[in-house]
Amino acid sequence: MNLRGKKALVTGSTSGIGLSIATALAEQGCDVMINGFGEASAIKTLMQDLGSKNRVKVHYSPADLSTADGVASLMAEAQAKLGGVDILVNNAGIQHTSPIEDFPPERWDAIIAINLSAVFHSIRLAVPGMKQGGWGRIINIASTHGLVASPFKSAYVAAKHGVLGLTKVTALELATSGVTCNAICPGWVRTALVERQIEARAKERGLPLEQAAVELLAEKQPSQRFTQPSDLAALAVFLCTEAAGNMTGTALPVDGAWTAQ
Ligand code: NAD
Repeated sequence: MNLRGKKALVTGSTSGIGLSIATALAEQGCDVMINGFGEASAIKTLMQDLGSKNRVKVHYSPADLSTADGVASLMAEAQAKLGGVDILVNNAGIQHTSPIEDFPPERWDAIIAINLSAVFHSIRLAVPGMKQGGWGRIINIASTHGLVASPFKSAYVAAKHGVLGLTKVTALELATSGVTCNAICPGWVRTALVERQIEARAKERGLPLEQAAVELLAEKQPSQRFTQPSDLAALAVFLCTEAAGNMTGTALPVDGAWTAQ
C-alpha cells in the first residue's frame, strides 16, 4: 500500500474518530488537511507532530460546516493549500437527544446541516477534481443509526440514514470513474460525543460513570466493548487501497453485532 503524496481532507478531525483517521492517513504518507474546533495551541502541536513524524504536509482549516458557505470555504482552502482532494473523509458530526415533541427545531437544523448537508456540499465540490484525476476515495462516517433507529435521536437518525442514501447515489454516479464512495457505520466509540451521553445517563440514574458506560453498551452492543477510533481508521485506510477499488456504495458496520440483532 502506498498513499504517499495523496491529498486527504478529514472533516471534524481535531478530536475522536476524525483525529484517528487523519493520523492514520498521515502515517500512510498522505498530506492532510484537518478541520474542526479546538484550542489553537493544541491544534498547532497536533499539526507539528503529524507533519514531522510522518514527513507529510499538514494544514488546518477552522471552517464551520454548519452552512453551505462554510463547506465551500473549506473546499477552497483544501484546493489552495493541499492542491486538491484525493481522499475526502466526511466525519464532522454532532448529537442531541430529546423526545421528538421537545426536540428544539434549531438543534434539528444544526444536526441536519452538519451531519448531512455538509456531506452533500463537500462531495459535490470534491467530485469534479476526483473525476478529472480518475481516482478518488469518499468515506462518509455514518453510524449504526444510519441503519437502525433509537429513541430520542430523531435528527441524528434521520441525518445518518440520509448519509447512507447519499453514499449510494454518489457511488452509482461515479461507478466507472475510479472514485469510490462508502460509509462506515460505527456503533459505540468512547469519544467526547459519547462521553456526554454516558455522563447524562450517570446523572439521570444516579450511577457511577463506569457503571453508566457498562449499561450503555449492554443496551445495544452485544460485544460489550467500545470500538477503538484506531480500528475505524484502519478500515478507512483499507478503503483507500487498490484492493478496495471495486468496493463502492457500501455501508460497513463496526458495531460489535449491534445491527445483527
Ligand atoms: P467528537 O465530538 O470527538 O468529534 C467531532 C468532530 O467534529 C470534532 O473535531 C469537532 O470539532 C467537529 N465539529 C463539530 N461541529 C463542527 C462544525 N460545525 N464544523 C466543523 N467541525 C465540526 O465525536 P466523534 O465521536 O469522533 O464523532 C465523529 C463522527 O463519528 C460523527 O459524525 C459521529 O456522528 C460519528 N459516530 C460516532 C460514534 C461514537 O460512538 N462516538 C458512533 C457512530 C458514529
